[in-house]
Parts: sequence; C-alpha cells; structure tokens
Amino acid sequence: MKEDPKYWNEKMETLSRDEFHAVQSKALAKEFAYVMENSPFYKEKFSHRGIGVEDIKGVDDLRKLPFTEKQELRDSLAFGKPLGRHGATPMENVIRVYSTSGTTGVPTYIGLTKKDRLVWRETANRSMWTCGMRPQHIVPLPIGTFFIAASYGEAIENLGSTLIPVGVGATDRLMGAIKNLGANFILSTASFPFYLIHYCEKMGIDTQSLGIKGFMVGGEPGGSIPKLRKQVEDAFGAVVRETMGNGDMLGLMWGECENKNGMHFVGAGACHAEIIDPVTGETLKIQKGVEGELIYTSLDRECQPLMRFRTRDHVVVTQTKCACGRTGFSIKCVGRTDDMMIVSGVNVYPSAIRDVISSLVPEVTGEILISVNSPLPSVKPPMKIKVEHGVNPGNLEDLTIKLATLLREKLIFSADVELVKPGSLPKYEYKAQLVQKNYKE
Ligand SMILES: [Zn+2]
Repeated sequence: MKEDPKYWNEKMETLSRDEFHAVQSKALAKEFAYVMENSPFYKEKFSHRGIGVEDIKGVDDLRKLPFTEKQELRDSLAFGKPLGRHGATPMENVIRVYSTSGTTGVPTYIGLTKKDRLVWRETANRSMWTCGMRPQHIVPLPIGTFFIAASYGEAIENLGSTLIPVGVGATDRLMGAIKNLGANFILSTASFPFYLIHYCEKMGIDTQSLGIKGFMVGGEPGGSIPKLRKQVEDAFGAVVRETMGNGDMLGLMWGECENKNGMHFVGAGACHAEIIDPVTGETLKIQKGVEGELIYTSLDRECQPLMRFRTRDHVVVTQTKCACGRTGFSIKCVGRTDDMMIVSGVNVYPSAIRDVISSLVPEVTGEILISVNSPLPSVKPPMKIKVEHGVNPGNLEDLTIKLATLLREKLIFSADVELVKPGSLPKYEYKAQLVQKNYKE
C-alpha cells in the first residue's frame, strides 16, 4: 500500500518565512483592492480615515487599518440586509448561508460564494490532515447544530474519508456508527470525549473495544490540557489532537500535528493571523511565549471579507519551529475575553483554572465548577470552586489545601475549594460550562 503524503498541501504548509510574507502580502493587496471596490462598509470606514487602495501593499501595512469589531458586523447586518453592509457580492453569487445564534441571541449570517466554499474546504482539509485524519478513516460528525458543521462534512468527504453525519445529542446513533460501520475518527468539541467516557461507563461499554483511532477536538479551549488529553487517549487507545477555526472567518485553519505542541496556522493564502495586546491594540511579534488576542484578515474571500477582525480569542504562541516541517506558528487557546475573570486585579480564565487543577489527576478527576455571585469579569476573592476528587483521593483536607496552594502559586488568586464526589458535577455533551452564575441577569 502506498504511504499517505505527509501534508495536505505541502507548498502552502511549508513556506519559508520570506515566501509566507510574499504570499500573504500579494493576496492582501489584491483582497484590499477588492474590498475597497465592493464592500460599502469598508469603503466608508477606510475612506473616512483617508486610507486608499495604494496604502495597503502588504501585511506590514495592516497596522494602518482600524480593527473590525463583532458589534460592527451585527450593526452592518441590521442595516444592510441580507448579508450586511460589509458584504461584497450580490446575493445571486451566494451559494450558502450559515447562521449563528451568538450569545446575544441576534443571529449573524455568514455567506459563501462558490469560490469561498472551496477556500473554506481547502484550509479545513489542511487542518484535518495535520490532525491525522486520513482517507481510510470513517468519521461520524456529532456536531450537527454547529453552524459551520456542513463545511466540515464537505471537507471530510473531499479528504477522502467516509463521512457519517449523526448530529448532536444522538449518542446512540454515534455508537451505532462505531459498532455497525466501524467509525473510528471523531471530530467533536473538546468536552465530547469525556461525555463519551461517562456514557460508556453508564452503559457498561468497554471504551477500548470501540476501535476509535483519533479525536480531533475544538470549539472550546481545553483540548490540549496534558492530563485530560491523556485520560481520553488512555480510555480509548486513541490520539487526541486539537483544531480551531472562526465562524466569521474560516471553518478551520489551525491543526495540531503529531508533536502535540499547539495548533499550527495552516491558513496561508486564505487568511492572515495577527496577535495583539488586547488593551493597547499594539501588534505583537510572533515568537514563542507571546500571549494576546487573535486578529484575522481575509485574504481570499468574496462574500464577506473581514479586515483585522477582533476574535476575542486569547492565545499563547507555543512554537515557531516544528519537527513536522510545517512552518506555520503554533498556538494554544487560553480562553475568550467573554469568559475572562478579574480577581484582585489579575486576569484569569476558567479554562486556565481547570488546567491547573487537572495537573493533580488522578487525585482529582479534572471536572470543576466555579460559582460567581455577581456579573463577570470582576470576582471577589476567595473564588468558590467545586472540584471532583478522584476515586482514591487520600486525605481530603490535605487535598483541599494542596489545590488552594497550587491555584495561589500558579494563578495568583485565593480560592475556596470544595471537594465533591467523582461524577457528581454535570457532564456536557456539547461544550463544558465551567462557571455557574448565582445571580439574576
Ligand atoms: Zn508540527
């Protein structure tokens, strides 16, 4: 049997630094001219600031442009129906529209032209291949209501794998696909494998016997927490890799390779990613350890191109060089601005708290629940955290002290830790909810 190639798109995934700069700059200049010609929102936004087509020749010029906020897109959609004033093509060229409910309840519409659809598929395929998905895999997709799920399904088919749509909340159908059809590679939220372990325990199913070879997880931070990843890998005898996309920008454009040191950027030619200081807005140099907010700029989008879109995703750069040969820098997602808490002046993300607590597995299970008494981000210390202890936790009082000390050392806040029995905190099939709000909104 012929061996699978190492990359989905060797040329675009292994560009040298100079080649990458040239590819991104050429695409940006072209896209910017297109945007200034076709998008009423951006034409107005940039012209008002005296920015013309000639000002943006390459990615180094991006910092001249103001950011695009999510709220601007909502307003743009409200005033320019159907696809917003930022839209840059007539509806007759649009072949698909996704909607997101968003946290505010007002739907955002995301349209794709024929060409946009191919661009989305291409970067999703690079991400999937990086995460280890191969044509011989059989892939059930348990994220039916996920608004961009259809684009994943199409990419799975294009990669050559076998797609089995099962939808969310249909664990029985998923188990059927595994048992009857040999489904063995699962694309899901980071919470789902834990839900599946719990489900199998309840049903008396041996997780090892299922034959699952891989999980490709995303949609929420946490898929790369080492001890939690190991729990899933040990339970199923499978590998866990993380992926990420952005509904407004591209379905998927990040993927973790076999070296498991963060997700590589694989969106060259389709999108440009910057990291900024979320407070000052200053662009940060991409190097190991740098932390900030991700900003995306479309490089090849016809329907709704976005310029310097603020994602609210906070990431940390884990590496800029990798033995796999991919040259895109790698990141881990630390959390979202919307989830951020400020305790005694220090920024803390719920996912970071879970990360720290999980380092004590198996003394704890890794499940936590933070309760807050007033609206975020401000949290009055001590922070109340319920933590599931493990099956053989030893002395509970010692463990409570150990956890509180660890949190104070690593995240610099004082915690009021309450240990609870394993399995007593809620399990989420879709995305984990780590914060419980004990107040009326
Ligand atoms: Zn790599």
